[in-house]
Amino acid sequence: MMDKKEITVIGAGLVGSLLAIYLAKRGYAVKLYERRGDMRREKVIAGRSINLALSDRGLLALEKVGLADEIKKIAIPMPGRRIHNQDGSSAFQPYGKEGQYINSVSRATLNMKLMDLAEKNGIEIFFNHRCASIDWKNKTINFEKVDSGSSSNVKYDLLFGADGAYAASRLQHQLQHERFEYQQHYIDCGYKELSIPATDSGEFALEPNALHIWPRKDYMLIALPNLDKTFTCTLFFPFEGETSFSRLDTKEKVKYFFEMTFPDVVPFMPNYIEEFFSNPTSSLVTVKCFPWIREDQFALIGDAAHAIVPFFGQGMNCGFEDCRILDELIGQFNGDWMQILEQFQLARKPDADAIAELALNNFTEMRERTADPQFLLQKKIEARLHEHFPDKWIPAYSQVTFSPQLRYSEALQRGQRQENIMYDVMRIPGIAEKWDSPEVEQLILRKLEEQ
Ligand SMILES: Cc1cc2nc3c(=O)[nH]c(=O)nc-3n(C[C@H](O)[C@H](O)[C@H](O)COP(=O)(O)OP(=O)(O)OC[C@H]3O[C@@H](n4cnc5c(N)ncnc54)[C@H](O)[C@@H]3O)c2cc1C
Repeated sequence: MMDKKEITVIGAGLVGSLLAIYLAKRGYAVKLYERRGDMRREKVIAGRSINLALSDRGLLALEKVGLADEIKKIAIPMPGRRIHNQDGSSAFQPYGKEGQYINSVSRATLNMKLMDLAEKNGIEIFFNHRCASIDWKNKTINFEKVDSGSSSNVKYDLLFGADGAYAASRLQHQLQHERFEYQQHYIDCGYKELSIPATDSGEFALEPNALHIWPRKDYMLIALPNLDKTFTCTLFFPFEGETSFSRLDTKEKVKYFFEMTFPDVVPFMPNYIEEFFSNPTSSLVTVKCFPWIREDQFALIGDAAHAIVPFFGQGMNCGFEDCRILDELIGQFNGDWMQILEQFQLARKPDADAIAELALNNFTEMRERTADPQFLLQKKIEARLHEHFPDKWIPAYSQVTFSPQLRYSEALQRGQRQENIMYDVMRIPGIAEKWDSPEVEQLILRKLEEQ
């Protein structure tokens, strides 16, 4: 066993806090620095989204630090999505097999629980400390004290940058690196959060155990349930164009648009017009970069290494998986950080790239295809195959969401192979009538073996 380094983590968000716990459990002394104030003591704006979908990858990583059961208690299971069509009809589409579900959790509550557990494990958290710059040569971080405006230099031994999609640590890494690969891509849609309060009798206004989607081709509205019987809605919507944020610039236009486009949910959203103008419009970015590490002294992790768009509900899950994989490597390489960090980026970079691609593709699926009868038929065929041949055919969504041991890169490849097969199958004449026949099933299996 090599000497135990002292470890500094920048960012006490979801990933930084979980990472710190993993490291402390391995016996390292960990210091955690966070730009914001302590959200357990003061009201801090949650940032990103109010609630999140936590699925099996995230749960597996939480389980390893003994937190999964506690988080499940504050989560609302969502076994499928409820699609709300424009004509007022709706349909429930299960996400997986009976008993499989994703979980709606409050970002703030989850983050606070992680911070509590971090402190219980002896980790000191320094709030209101914004990483301003890093001197890689002298292994020193300059922090600005956000509350007082003063600044201080802190020496580090081993450093993790877990400071999110717009990471200062990543920028410092890039500025002092000769061949740093960096790519960022903004999609042309942004998002805005709105809310559905509990009904007058204190109940959920919509079915709670579902992720609600109002797919409208170029855009969509979604809603996830909260424990206080409210829903947080997110409108994913173009920034510019005929129907866009830039055009909805008066209360009248917003009212008209919502009443025409989302007529069934408007009665449950008494404050949507005010919220539309008071809540921010935020952008959605994919960040890819490489290398994530500097020898044995620094690594990026979570969104700082790989920010993705939220349409597969995997950003946090992927960041939590980073922590679990890193922990396995610590065990495997017995504290040799040169090896651990090198193997970490080698293992995780292809998976982060894969989930970035899957997430972008899923936007089209959610906003466009979920209301398409052909797509629904395809899903029905795939679900049946999965039921009959659970090892041979796993629908792409289940590979990502309910198969936590399967790498994202493998899920992407398998998903593409299956999609090619289904492309041909959906073109078989009369498929709508014989979709559940042995003939179709055998054909698919043959195609699978040929690939
Ligand atoms: C609209 C939306 C919906 C989403 N839904 C889901 C979902 O359903 N499921 C899912 O798995 N993922 C979802 N995500 C993705 C998820 O939010 C992120 O992947 C996750 O928050 C990443 O965690 P992180 O700790 O890496 O970064 P962050 O959560 O961004 O945390 C970074 C932390 O670093 C701190 N920080 C930043 N800069 C500095 C600095 N200079 N110095 C010190 N501290 C700093 C920040 O204050 C913050 O606390 C969604 C994202 C968006 C935008």
